[in-house]
Amino acid sequence: MPLIEETRRRLAAIPNLTLWRDEPLSLHTRFGIGGPADLYVETGSEEAFMGAIEAARDGGIEIEVIGGGTNLIVSDDGLRGIVLRYRGAQLEANGPCVRAEAGAELQDFVDFSIDRGLKGLETLAGIPGSVGGAVYGNAGAYGHAIAERVVEVRFFDGKRVRVFANEECQFQYRESVFKDHKEWIIFSTGLRLEPADAGVLRETASDIVKVRNEKFPVTMKCAGSIFKNLMLSDLSAAAAAEVPARVVREGKVPAAWFLEQVGAKGTRRGDIRVAAYHANLVYNDGAGTATDLCALINDLKARVTGRFGLVLEEEVQFVGIAGQ
Ligand SMILES: Cc1cc2nc3c(=O)[nH]c(=O)nc-3n(C[C@H](O)[C@H](O)[C@H](O)COP(=O)(O)OP(=O)(O)OC[C@H]3O[C@@H](n4cnc5c(N)ncnc54)[C@H](O)[C@@H]3O)c2cc1C
Repeated sequence: MPLIEETRRRLAAIPNLTLWRDEPLSLHTRFGIGGPADLYVETGSEEAFMGAIEAARDGGIEIEVIGGGTNLIVSDDGLRGIVLRYRGAQLEANGPCVRAEAGAELQDFVDFSIDRGLKGLETLAGIPGSVGGAVYGNAGAYGHAIAERVVEVRFFDGKRVRVFANEECQFQYRESVFKDHKEWIIFSTGLRLEPADAGVLRETASDIVKVRNEKFPVTMKCAGSIFKNLMLSDLSAAAAAEVPARVVREGKVPAAWFLEQVGAKGTRRGDIRVAAYHANLVYNDGAGTATDLCALINDLKARVTGRFGLVLEEEVQFVGIAGQ
């Protein structure tokens, strides 16, 4: 506790930084779940952010970086350490090249590009969260992902600010090099888009948002899909033989298909439920807890492993929860 107090004092002296003590993380996750963080910091200044990391590191304090909290399961006990959120949200365009700070809402970046008649982000319309979170997890939908358009990513590696070109980011389906280096903090990204008719792009985006809002009502406390889809080529011959060809899309088998076969739809644990209409959609129906959420996830994984001999991998990220 003295180290936290000492760090709190150092953080309080950093300009352009807002600091909370014992902040409930349930206020910062779409699941509405998560106990308090000893310290919670927000800043739109790169210098302040780096200063805060240095102060936390000097204090030997655990660090977690979050974005919009739309893909997070945070422990009911919260985090004994510091949670940081980068709020820089500037958007810029120069011809077909656009740039966004990591703290910008992904939807604002999508709208910004569409308004400038630039094609390439419209299929990401309606994906909640920040640009930083989208780059970290290579967010995507409708057969496209942000990585297809990323030219470079600017990030802090704990010592200095670096810039990675697209190939260095090692993007794959819902993966990037940043997932293997949780201490790297994305500050901004530059993308190259293509000129197109803004009206057509807007229509595409608005059709997508309509469909998404039916599947994920805006008030639903969830994280989108809990589990990643699976590559058909990664499955054992026995598991692959059971998958009907009609469910395979772009070489992937939806995790929802496996979950359906094991009766996941409608399952519940406390206030945590699997949607009756979508087996890979788990939501908090009221006063759900991370304990129940993790238990339900583990139960679903065990059912799928028992039936198909494969292990589902979570798309959601865990904070303060060991062994998940
Ligand atoms: C209703 C709903 C629908 C969804 N649909 C989709 C979908 O169609 N496709 C899809 O891909 N995802 C989807 N998601 C998941 C989620 O929206 C994305 O993963 C999103 O990109 C997460 O962004 P975030 O800012 O909320 O990140 P958070 O949830 O806050 O964090 C997620 C991870 O990103 C890391 N992170 C965040 N910011 C930074 C940064 N600046 N630097 C380094 N690491 C960072 C965090 O450490 C954490 O590990 C959906 C979620 C919901 C709730």
